[in-house]
Amino acid sequence: MDSNYLNEQASPAPGIERIRHDTRRRSLTVESVVDITPGMRRITLSGDELADFISLAPDDHIKIFLPTADGGEERRDYTPRRYDNAERKLTIDFALHEAGPVTQWALGARPGDRLEIGGPRGSQVISESVKRWLLIGDETALPAIGRRIEESSEGTVITALAAVTGPLEEQTFETRAELDLRWAHRPLSEATSAAALLKLLHKVDIQPQTFIWIAAEASVTRDIRAYLLTERGYPLPWIKASGYWVFGKADATEKFG
Ligand SMILES: Cc1cc2nc3c(=O)[nH]c(=O)nc-3n(C[C@H](O)[C@H](O)[C@H](O)COP(=O)(O)OP(=O)(O)OC[C@H]3O[C@@H](n4cnc5c(N)ncnc54)[C@H](O)[C@@H]3O)c2cc1C
Repeated sequence: MDSNYLNEQASPAPGIERIRHDTRRRSLTVESVVDITPGMRRITLSGDELADFISLAPDDHIKIFLPTADGGEERRDYTPRRYDNAERKLTIDFALHEAGPVTQWALGARPGDRLEIGGPRGSQVISESVKRWLLIGDETALPAIGRRIEESSEGTVITALAAVTGPLEEQTFETRAELDLRWAHRPLSEATSAAALLKLLHKVDIQPQTFIWIAAEASVTRDIRAYLLTERGYPLPWIKASGYWVFGKADATEKFG
């Protein structure tokens, strides 16, 4: 265990402000559909109801609602990748995989199609005093990672570790921050193994007071978080970890305290 971090615990945990928003449904129209990589489909939605859309944190999520044949509704969480109130536009990046109603919808989406969304219900805004970030995730985390990178100001230092299926899935981001972006390659069939990300993480010298954000398949997030806490002795208040999906379970997420 690295005692460096323990000494730093004398400094306060980073402030996280929880801000609630009015939730209401918005009915939007697909404006464009672009594959930014073979496995990542970017859909831009438009509609006057976006005039007061608000999302204050890069890892906010909206709900996507899809009607089912029996009159019910499917709901899934997605990241508002980018939005523009004046232009009335909202962009969402869909990581394509084999199953799932939302992925199926994204695969068939055409300009003019309608989509209902709700939220974000709230934002967790991490203090601007945080100047060092370590962002770790898989394809589903890339929208939040990309948004954090793009929205960061000068003087911010970001290391990002992202797992994708190969070089064709690597994305580029524009940023004022100092960015060290490292890619791990593994097939989607190994998306439940933390090995590729841990291999990269072993080589990262984590400076004290780095905020570590993790999102991936739940077991991957759990293993990375456990490694940071036990083997690196990293302080829990400086880690936010989420399971963005759970292997074998539809509509499932996991939060780690
Ligand atoms: C806060 C938050 C933000 C998110 N943001 C995004 C985002 O911006 N973009 C994005 O693509 N995803 C995002 N996700 C993940 C997304 O909600 C899930 O992947 C969701 O399960 C997809 O819905 P679906 O209808 O396609 O599949 P589901 O019906 O939920 O699942 C069907 C099957 O597919 C499997 N599965 C689900 N997701 C994946 C995957 N990515 N790869 C392989 N197998 C999978 C499930 O285990 C299940 O067996 C986010 C999740 C959370 C919690």
